[in-house]
Amino acid sequence: MKCYQCALEGYQTDAVAICIVCGMAVCMDHLIREELPVSETFMTGLGIQKKTYPLTMPRFLCYPCYDALSQQEGSR
Ligand SMILES: [Zn+2]
Ligand SMILES: [Zn+2]
Repeated sequence: MKCYQCALEGYQTDAVAICIVCGMAVCMDHLIREELPVSETFMTGLGIQKKTYPLTMPRFLCYPCYDALSQQEGSR
């Protein structure tokens, strides 16, 4: 698969990832890699406890989706 963003500019670049939101194939130059924290909340006798784990989950986005998501208030 070729990078969609590069194809728009007339280049043929092999894609290395797929945006999880829109499914667009993107090359290294056109992807955003984010590290999402993995956490769990437990109900205990003392209330709700939140545990965050040391390993993060990568997610790949294209620039248009990244921009669209980051305009939401409270997304950061
Ligand atoms: Zn590209
Ligand atoms: Zn996308």
